Amino acid sequence: MAPLPNSIEARDIAHHFHPFTNARRHEEIGPIVMAKGDGVFVEDIDGKRYIEAMSGLWSVAVGFSEKRLVDAAVKQMAELPYYHSFTHKSHAPVVDLAEKLINIAPVPMAKVHFTNSGSEANDLIVKLLRYRANGMGEPRRKKIISRLRGYHGITLAAASLTGLPNNHASFDLPIEGILHTICPHYWREGREGESEEAFATRCAAELEAMIEAEGPETIAAFIAEPVMGAGGVVIPPVTYWEKIQAVLSRYPEIVFVADEVICGFGRTGEMFGSVTYDLKPDIITVSKGLSSSYLPISAVIMNDRVYQPIADETARIGTFGHGFTTTGHPVAAAVALENLKIIEERDLVGNARARGPRLQDGLRRLADHPLVGEVRGVGLIAGVELVTDKEKKVAVQPPGALAAKAFGLIQERGVISRAIGDTLAFCPPLIIEDEHIDTILATTREGLDALAAEMGM
Ligand code: PMP
Repeated sequence: MAPLPNSIEARDIAHHFHPFTNARRHEEIGPIVMAKGDGVFVEDIDGKRYIEAMSGLWSVAVGFSEKRLVDAAVKQMAELPYYHSFTHKSHAPVVDLAEKLINIAPVPMAKVHFTNSGSEANDLIVKLLRYRANGMGEPRRKKIISRLRGYHGITLAAASLTGLPNNHASFDLPIEGILHTICPHYWREGREGESEEAFATRCAAELEAMIEAEGPETIAAFIAEPVMGAGGVVIPPVTYWEKIQAVLSRYPEIVFVADEVICGFGRTGEMFGSVTYDLKPDIITVSKGLSSSYLPISAVIMNDRVYQPIADETARIGTFGHGFTTTGHPVAAAVALENLKIIEERDLVGNARARGPRLQDGLRRLADHPLVGEVRGVGLIAGVELVTDKEKKVAVQPPGALAAKAFGLIQERGVISRAIGDTLAFCPPLIIEDEHIDTILATTREGLDALAAEMGM
């Protein structure tokens, strides 16, 4: 139905060009306009309530109505609404937050640099690695290896790290010097007769072959999410991380970057995905769960061996010629601190660990559904990949059409998931309770049943 003239939907169509949206399609159908949030629920302007089973964009750890975050923002706004951290200035929220992140980091870390989004944090990694290589007198060590279907953001360099076609097409990306190795999705990429472990061995061998083919002295870093999120929720196959880290340990000059933008702060049932998978990164990027995205903030957390050559280079040049007006924004930092306090006080990481199996087991029971190809997940993040031919693991054309339909039918019934290609993603707030999980599970099955019926299956 076309929106009424002068309605908020019509005004949105008239003036607002949306991110991650087909603009022509939007001109036809307009937006769903959200008005309120309450716990794990959001409500649109027509009063329809949804369980936000994606935490917005994998973000809202503490739910949508956390008054303590509002109060923290108001208090900081009243005291010092803005200040910067250029040229030796600082303020308490940014100092406290940097210290907190160093204290809770899963491996010994030295310094934190703040940014405003996950993309900016990962974009900065590319700059930092160039700066560091030049500082160390190794100007050839600039290439970065990322993974196909990895997601690291959308600024020029971050989008280049991302290994997804939609983020490259028509943007003339990736930039030079970014390489993509195999996506560790066993169900899709594993060969006939190849065990999960053998597949992990092949992934590690491909990484090593890429390093050798390029020349190890030209590789600055390997970047990866502990669990791939926006690439379709890809859970690493057994022994994958062990084998990848064994390769990296043979090239100690290559920096290992863990993009914890989704996994950080409890998502996998531990404080970091790096704990779940026993990763030893040199750099960690965080955002989203850091402030529950109530305000934009992100951070690059680095160890001493990353930091020292960079610090030397700032001294040689005279400054670190990088920083945003809003780097380490005091209100965002104050909100992030309070958010982390809530995560700890209420043991939301423990809640993710305790409730995760209910979500994962429940979704796995969908495996008998005629439209479900694979169910995968860990903690409170999961993906359900849809197919129309289970044997061949294919869905109807065009790619993504099947999950888009399923997503719509599930959303109509009051649960917001996300369609990524033909995978439905789930990533509910860490405060979720059993009854909400049960609603997500029942509604997802109803939506899939409705779709199967529509398709005459
Ligand atoms: N890294 C990962 C793992 C992400 O999931 C995202 C966002 N989905 C980003 C980076 C980019 O973050 P932002 O959207 O804040 O730029």
